[in-house]
Amino acid sequence: MATLLNGRTVANSLLEDIKQDVENLNSKGVRPKLVVILVGSDPASSVYVRNKQKSCETVGMLSEKHDFPETISQKELLAHIEKLNKDKSVNGLIVQVPLPSHIDEDEVVNTIDPAKDVDGFHPVNVGKTALGLEFEELTPATPKGITRILEYYQIDPSGMNAVVIGRSKNVGKPIGMMLLNRNATVTTCHSRTKDVSSHTKTADLVIVAVGRSEFVRSDMLKEGAVVIDVGIHRREDSSLCGDVKFDEVEKIALAITPVPGGVGPMTVAALLENTILATKAQHNL
Ligand code: NAP
Repeated sequence: MATLLNGRTVANSLLEDIKQDVENLNSKGVRPKLVVILVGSDPASSVYVRNKQKSCETVGMLSEKHDFPETISQKELLAHIEKLNKDKSVNGLIVQVPLPSHIDEDEVVNTIDPAKDVDGFHPVNVGKTALGLEFEELTPATPKGITRILEYYQIDPSGMNAVVIGRSKNVGKPIGMMLLNRNATVTTCHSRTKDVSSHTKTADLVIVAVGRSEFVRSDMLKEGAVVIDVGIHRREDSSLCGDVKFDEVEKIALAITPVPGGVGPMTVAALLENTILATKAQHNL
């Protein structure tokens, strides 16, 4: 049976460290603050934002939610971002997606000051990650969470054949770069990949961010592989499952993240870690 990579345990440990960081910064007169801009009233987005704020509270970090109606214009939204860029009391700034269709998301991301871009989506931060490990700073939260899980369980990607299924800008592409930075041999599969199994069958480490429930089955994997499941789906009976068929794969894997309780809890913790990193950099600490 595979070792369960418990994201809640890792996230709690990371949040403890962050709490300590917040206290140390407070003692120097620095109060880290995360601002989340929420446009419209998408219920799922509201839940995500509430979770981010709750986690900030848990570690003693300041947080603000700036609400705007769905009708906000691109110009007004960009003007608000510019204002927050200049506000020295704001250390981390994110704009919750999805945005209404009349808003140009790329322009929004490009307007955020890279030093406050704690989602790690600004081209400057993407570029730094592409340059190598020593340049990595504000990386997207989900991939950062995955690297923290691997570190916690002392799984070193160096020399491993790693396969990433998915090439999204928030998960697949950045985790591919980050594994390469950690000396894995990385293959990325996507919807045009001819035979995903032919790649995953020889992989020591498989990161699954395909967005299809229980897509990865045990016959697609090598025995003893480490499997990280990023996906999250609600079944008809309202239970949750991931992109990996867990009950099959746990029998042959060396280690696996469960859903829920794997990568999910890490994402908010990694966002707060980025806010601390950003705060320290802004104060030359
Ligand atoms: P996404 O943007 O939908 O990307 C899915 C990727 O999978 C795309 O690159 C797509 O290829 C590829 N793909 C689709 N069908 C495929 C197939 N049959 N074979 C191979 N590749 C295929 O999804 P995402 O944002 O990366 O998220 C992936 C999953 O993780 C979702 O279930 C999402 O809900 C979950 N998620 C969880 C967290 C968390 O905190 N736990 C955070 C983020 C995302 P193309 O590029 O060719 O279209």
